[in-house]
Amino acid sequence: MYHPRQDSSAPPRTIFDLTGGEPLRLPALPGETSSDVAIVGGGLVGCSAALHLAEMGRSAIVIEANEIGWGSARRSAGQVSASATKLDPAEVLRVYGPVHGPRLNEAGAQAPEFVSALAERYGMDISIVRGGILRGVHTPAMAAKLRGQAEFWQRQGAPVEYLSRGEAARIIGSDFYLGAQIDRRGIAVNPLAWVRGLARAAMSLGARLHENTRMDGLTRTADGWRIATPHGAISAGQVLLCTNAYTDDAWPGLKRTIIPVRGYQIWTRPLGDNVRAHILRGIAAMNDTRRLLTGMRLYPDGRLHFSGGVGFGAERAPDLEDRIARVRQILPDVGPLEVEGWWSGWVTRGIADGWRLHRLAPGLFTAIACNGRGVAMGPIMGRELARCAAGVPESELLVPLSAPKSIPWHPVHALLGSMAIRHYARLDRREIAEMRSIADTPA
Ligand SMILES: Cc1cc2nc3c(=O)[nH]c(=O)nc-3n(C[C@H](O)[C@H](O)[C@H](O)COP(=O)(O)OP(=O)(O)OC[C@H]3O[C@@H](n4cnc5c(N)ncnc54)[C@H](O)[C@@H]3O)c2cc1C
Repeated sequence: MYHPRQDSSAPPRTIFDLTGGEPLRLPALPGETSSDVAIVGGGLVGCSAALHLAEMGRSAIVIEANEIGWGSARRSAGQVSASATKLDPAEVLRVYGPVHGPRLNEAGAQAPEFVSALAERYGMDISIVRGGILRGVHTPAMAAKLRGQAEFWQRQGAPVEYLSRGEAARIIGSDFYLGAQIDRRGIAVNPLAWVRGLARAAMSLGARLHENTRMDGLTRTADGWRIATPHGAISAGQVLLCTNAYTDDAWPGLKRTIIPVRGYQIWTRPLGDNVRAHILRGIAAMNDTRRLLTGMRLYPDGRLHFSGGVGFGAERAPDLEDRIARVRQILPDVGPLEVEGWWSGWVTRGIADGWRLHRLAPGLFTAIACNGRGVAMGPIMGRELARCAAGVPESELLVPLSAPKSIPWHPVHALLGSMAIRHYARLDRREIAEMRSIADTPA
């Protein structure tokens, strides 16, 4: 079965390279060393854990198998929603319980602010775009659900609205959707600049980061852990595994707790001024309620970035014609779309599709799953891992420490997942056809 770590070690070129700054070019771990805490994985979770440990005065060392941000960070779409998971706020309460559920909902609501504040504190230029995230609605049932969600947030004083078809059309540039929810708290960022910014901030406070250093072995010692790498080793009191979708067999059974799904993203050359002025107006980004959703961002230079589909297995070129047809369905007047590039990366699904914090053994922690909300929640979970390592009691953490649970039928997940994708595509097509025959849904 294909494993995400089989992907090329060369980082893909994405739209974020255009404004993401310079790579860090850090040396590999050269020999034997020790640290209070060793962090495996230099993505958003790992770099944030290092930064927060350094802020607490703990020594931290990060090893990244490739380059900082090589994994999902630079491959994401950079949308930062004001929610911690894809679950409804009420489902979050059910899954995480009466103590941690409300905390997680609140952390999600504050997630865009968390990103903006941390970036500002360390002087990171991460190209923040404000204006909110719009979610187009494609069925009456989804309209009712998102209207209910908007009312929930309005009662808390949050700037979330349900828009009628006409109101949504004025923002999107077409009346494709039945209506939309707009959450004005949402932002979009350059996730490559963000992960590099976190890494630089951590180093500025004394954290040590090494690229091209893969953990080959993890063993218990009398006073902690020993991590083996090709050219050196680390002795550490505590270890944080921040490998998420790329989790391999380093800890027995951990990779069976997640299902990595490959997501593709596509970007175009700049659109003409006349088109730009009429689409995705005043918002940071959009997506929709389809099972296989389409997300879109329009950049200040006129480039359009949109979802390129999902799959399993080795990377292959996305069906560009099909993906462009999807964009044209939403934006019929978009004019010529010239693809400039595409990339892919792995999004992780877990059992309840929310973030999980596990204590795998004394002094060994991981934050894993819910990868689709990782641009802000990843660094927030990195902070929680740092707090675990610093001995903060479980009762004070954002999510409870839980035991890892294997996903049933894991060995055949790619087969079942591919069947599910085909099924979802059929359902989405049928619902879109039905949607087109429905009149406006009132706001
Ligand atoms: C196509 C796509 C679109 C997305 N869009 C969004 C979005 O719009 N908004 C949002 O919030 N989230 C989005 N995400 C999810 C988000 O990118 C992730 O949640 C987040 O980047 C996860 O961060 P991480 O640090 O947990 O993992 P990663 O960034 O994947 O980092 C894990 C790192 O661990 C390293 N590693 C693995 N094994 C070892 C080892 N043995 N030794 C050393 N290093 C190792 C890997 O090389 C990798 O760099 C998207 C993801 C994808 C793929």
